[in-house]
This record gives sequence, structure tokens and C-alpha cells, in this order.
Amino acid sequence: MVKLAEWRGKEIFRRYGIPLPPGHVVRSADEAEAAARSGAIPLPCVVKAQVLAGGRGKGGAVRFANTPEEVRAAATAILGLEFKGEKVKELLLEGKLPIGRELYVSITLDRSRRLPVLITSGEGGVEIESVADDAIDRQPIDPFPGLAAYERRRAAKSLGLTGGPARALDGLLQSLWRAFQGEDAELVEINPLAIVGDGLVALDAKVIIEDDAAFRHPEYAEIRDDRTPLEEIAREKEIAFVQLDGNIGVIANGAGLTMATLDVLKEFGGNPGVFLDLGGTDDPKKVTEAFLLMAQAKPRAVFLNIFGGVTRCDTVAKGLVDAMAQVPAAERFPLVARIRGNNEKEGIEILRAAGITSIPDLKSSAQAVVAAAGGAP
Ligand code: ADP
Ligand code: MG
Repeated sequence: MVKLAEWRGKEIFRRYGIPLPPGHVVRSADEAEAAARSGAIPLPCVVKAQVLAGGRGKGGAVRFANTPEEVRAAATAILGLEFKGEKVKELLLEGKLPIGRELYVSITLDRSRRLPVLITSGEGGVEIESVADDAIDRQPIDPFPGLAAYERRRAAKSLGLTGGPARALDGLLQSLWRAFQGEDAELVEINPLAIVGDGLVALDAKVIIEDDAAFRHPEYAEIRDDRTPLEEIAREKEIAFVQLDGNIGVIANGAGLTMATLDVLKEFGGNPGVFLDLGGTDDPKKVTEAFLLMAQAKPRAVFLNIFGGVTRCDTVAKGLVDAMAQVPAAERFPLVARIRGNNEKEGIEILRAAGITSIPDLKSSAQAVVAAAGGAP
């Protein structure tokens, strides 16, 4: 999944002919002020943090400015923000448009129907999750004929549009559909789509590109602005490593056991902060490398839950003990191990020699690690 920042999504929209406000990306307050002074961006304008999380409007990460001085002040304030855990490094400056109603339009995949779906709502400008279900219209789209004229008319009707804005919507939906297909997107979302005069303008853009189509879009390989720096290193080393919000590190092998381990920790009040799927490996060095990466994420406690198969228990235990020896004493964290399966005895023995006890029972081991991380919140 490649989530694109708003300005990248808008670059795509522009290529497909979706109407947008005039915009300009900057990375410092100096650049922002200069863009306003030179006329590169019309005034009054909007200064928008380019982060992946939504709700920027409410969170002070979208501000309005009338003069170059105000643009500088807004840029300085927003560039200093850490918005929902992400440092703001880029800003999008946009002309401020005199907007009428704010609408919601998106195309995404309906996985249960196995079809794309067009979603529209007259209540745009707020997160769609907070809109009442009966204020949202959903139309599955047959991908082969594509988005049909009668479906576009129904969308216009659901949004209460007539005349100019209804005609504008017709063209816009065709462009949005072409963008969805052409870019192999998982989601193309415009929220809000604003009525401006007799037309429509996309004020926001959220685009997610489908991972399985990455080979068709090498242009997105360099973007990946949704990965954390540690996830980036992990990807280069081909380690399956994902950072979450919590404080417990999870090391397991195989996607199934890894997901189940996260669920079990949640069940006992724990909060997983990072997980690492060792997959199938018989190389202790690989385990050491993965574990050192986990240590850099600074978990409060780590849960090692391994079912030995191709990845033998002794391989994991050896890699782990080697890694622990490399972690400076001040940065060590409690470790709870549960290793079962192939070469279990040997593995347990290696851990025991290093002072780590393996708890065979899943429930007790999960509870032990939750307690070690400071208990349930
Ligand atoms: P988010 O979805 O993260 O809150 P948006 O890009 O949707 O951020 O902006 C939030 C609100 O700011 C919009 O609902 C709209 O009311 C206003 N806004 C955004 N861009 C413009 C613009 N170019 N002109 C006028 N108003 C804008
Ligand atoms: Mg929005």
C-alpha cells in the first residue's frame, strides 16, 4: 500500500483533468513567503501540512493567510508541528477559493463485492467515518464497461446537484474513474469536493496505490512516504517489520502466528508497538539482524513467540542471544520467550544459558510480557 501525500495525489488528479486550486509545494517558511510575494501563489491562500493523517483542518494543520507575512507565520507554525506522530516537512500552498457546499466523492474497492465502488455524500469536509450511513450513497461499478452515464447521473442526484455543478460532476467522475484504473489505485478520494461558482474543485486528495500493481508503476517505488525510517531499513534487508502505536515488541514466524500473537496480546490488555515476522530462515545471523532492528524501536518488553519448523527453535535462540549481547545494558528490555516445535529442547537450553526462561503456555507467556511492559493501560 503506497499512501500518497495530498500534493502527490493532486499531481495525479491534474494529469487526469480534475479541477484543482492553484498550488505550490514548499519546504520552509522562507520559500512559503517568497511564493506569496512573487505571485507564484495567489492571496488569500491556504497553508496545508503534507502529512498522511487526515483531520488536518480540525488539528490546526490547515491555516489561512492573507498577506506574505501571514503566510510566513502560518508556515512557521505548521512546520513546527508533529501531527499525529509525523513531523511536518512539506507544505502545500493553495489559492483560497470562495467555496459553497462541501461534498464527498471517492472510488475504492469493495472487497466483499469484489468490485470497485463509487461513494458519494452531500456531507463532505468531515471524515467519512463520522457521516451517518443514510447520508452516504454507494454504487458498485462493473469494471469492464466502467462508470456508466446512469451511475454518474445517480451520483449527481444523490449529491443534490443540478445545472453547471451536475455537468461538472459528470466529467469529474469520468476523470476520477480513469485515474483509479490507470494508476491501479486502491482509493481515490476527494474530500471535500467543493462547489465553486458554477463548477467543482477538488480541495483535498487522498490516493492509495495498490501494492500488487507496484511493478506496473516504478514511479511510486521511491515515494513510500508511509514507511518509518526503521521500516525502510527493514525493507532493504527484506525483513517483515511493522511499527504500530504500542510498546510491546513481537517477534514471531509466519504471518498467521504473528497476527494471532498481536491479537492475544490485545486480549490480555497489551499494546503491540512493533512486530517482526521472521518467516522461514535457518540463519542465526538473520535473526540477530532482525532482533537488533527491533531493539532500535525501543520496545518496553519483547515477546518472542516461535513455532519451530523450517525456522528451528535453536536457530532463533542462538540469533537472539547473540543480538542481546550486542544491545548496550542501558537499552535492554525484558524478554519473554515461548518457543515450541522443531529443536525446541536445544533452543530452550540456549535461552536458559543466557538467563531467559521459555514459558510454554501461550496465555501465561502473553500475560507475563504485558506485565513486563507495565501492565494493561
Ligand atoms: P483535512 O481533510 O486533513 O482536514 P482538507 O484538505 O480537507 O484537510 O482541508 C480542510 C478544510 O479546509 C476543507 O474542508 C475546506 O473547508 C478548507 N480548505 C482546504 N483547502 C481549501 C482551499 N484551497 N480553499 C478554501 N478552503 C479550503
Ligand atoms: Mg479532507
